[in-house]
Amino acid sequence: MLTSDRLRIVLAASEAVPFSKTGGLADVSTALAKSLDQQGHSVTVIVPDYRQLRLAKQEQLPAIADAGLRFSISMNGRYVTGGVNWTMLPDSGVKVLLISQPDYFDRPQLYMEDGEGYQDNCERFCFFSRAVMEVCQQMVLRPDIIHCNDWQTGLIPGLLHSQFAGRPGFENAASVMTLHNMAFQGRFWYHDMPLTGMDARYFNMHHMESWSDLNLLKTGISFADQITTVSPTYAQEICTTDGGEGLDSLLSFRKRDLVGILNGIDTSIWNPESDPHLSASYTVQEINPGKAKCKSALQQRMGLPQRDRVPLFGMVSRMSDQKGFDLIAECASRLLFDDIQIAFLGTGDARYEDYLRHLAYENPSKVAAYIGFDDGLAHQIEAGADAFLMPSRFEPCGLNQMYSLRYGTLPVVRRVGGLADSVVNVEPETLRSGVATGFVFDDYSSSQLAETVERAVELYRQPGVWDQVMKNGMSADWSWQSSARHYVDTYRRALERRHERAAENRQ
Ligand code: ADP
Repeated sequence: MLTSDRLRIVLAASEAVPFSKTGGLADVSTALAKSLDQQGHSVTVIVPDYRQLRLAKQEQLPAIADAGLRFSISMNGRYVTGGVNWTMLPDSGVKVLLISQPDYFDRPQLYMEDGEGYQDNCERFCFFSRAVMEVCQQMVLRPDIIHCNDWQTGLIPGLLHSQFAGRPGFENAASVMTLHNMAFQGRFWYHDMPLTGMDARYFNMHHMESWSDLNLLKTGISFADQITTVSPTYAQEICTTDGGEGLDSLLSFRKRDLVGILNGIDTSIWNPESDPHLSASYTVQEINPGKAKCKSALQQRMGLPQRDRVPLFGMVSRMSDQKGFDLIAECASRLLFDDIQIAFLGTGDARYEDYLRHLAYENPSKVAAYIGFDDGLAHQIEAGADAFLMPSRFEPCGLNQMYSLRYGTLPVVRRVGGLADSVVNVEPETLRSGVATGFVFDDYSSSQLAETVERAVELYRQPGVWDQVMKNGMSADWSWQSSARHYVDTYRRALERRHERAAENRQ
């Protein structure tokens, strides 16, 4: 690679494994950074230094050192000081800078406690976004691209466009904004505007304001040189009234700069051949006895009867309205009429947690629910289950269905967002052509979900066909390499757009 082809990329995110995680964003930040590094680019990930990191098992973390930098940011007239720790992503050349500010980040959770978002989330993540810019400048990172992710970093494209434009180190920098989930926009009352450090004139409907609120995701969409989202189907859905969560007109307006890139998965972490969380390993060439052993171990761990020929469905998920738990509740008795087992893992809305505890209590031989966050168990469910439930109302990309495919666990999904882009429905034609990988339904309805589960149970009784569908899914390539190449194309387009805009402004 020529030096001129090598991009200096700063990836700013509110979470990244193994330092912090509440959802898919954490997996994506790390896996994308590693792939870009493997393709020869220079990558720095910047994340907050949360308490979660200090609590993580030290043997799972690389060594962390003080970078020796202190900076102060005026947050609405009050100077707040931050520091920087640094480390490397394991098995890569990716540098990680951890922004430390104990009042903001040394807390029990990342964003919320007991279902309530922290009152000062706007202040915390405005500080983080502004810190990213300060650190880029003071550590002379000279980024070509600042890649921002979700509302927590949505302010950054605005800062790059206004107060940092033309400052040393940012002359050639372009911004890319990735939308991982339009349901979370970082909307705050307009009194928080001074925390952003942006001129008050940007508080208007074309830039930072929506429906009288300050909207940090909108800020990112308005100012970024390129916008990406995490699947081609979701890129179309968010330009419609149904999927745009109020920002569809802005996204339609910026359609030329919007692209959907399906996430990959980290195949070094999610690999049934080498997964340390599993009691047995397996490959597409030799699925059993490995997968059967994983099933038995999962049944044992979850307290379900250890039976071989019963279809075991798994579900690992945030327990929120997005993920289709209301559909499951509506059709649970119909589903459990069949001889099946279901293993749930998740945390979230208390009503769903309580409901699943109750369902498991009432049906101990069929349902098990572990309410909590447990990465090891998530791997064990992916491997031990026969099929995986994702009846989402909407799903920007979804990672679990790709983990399932890789682990020979057939996904049962609704045809939305990234689920539509990654699972091929079992039907006579797709079976014949060897591309069927799972079960897909269209309407957000409990009867369609129940029918689809019944279809899965039916196919499970034809082991030869089931095995072939497993193999189709396991043979697909979900690695980050091709997605990362799409991101690099987008980065180059962002640089072109930035130069075009600069030329327009000069005229
Ligand atoms: P989202 O980002 O909307 O929550 P994704 O499917 O994209 O959904 O990613 C969810 C990620 O979080 C997956 O890696 C999944 O395994 C993990 N996950 C979700 N809930 C739990 C849990 N309770 N325990 C362990 N891992 C979980």
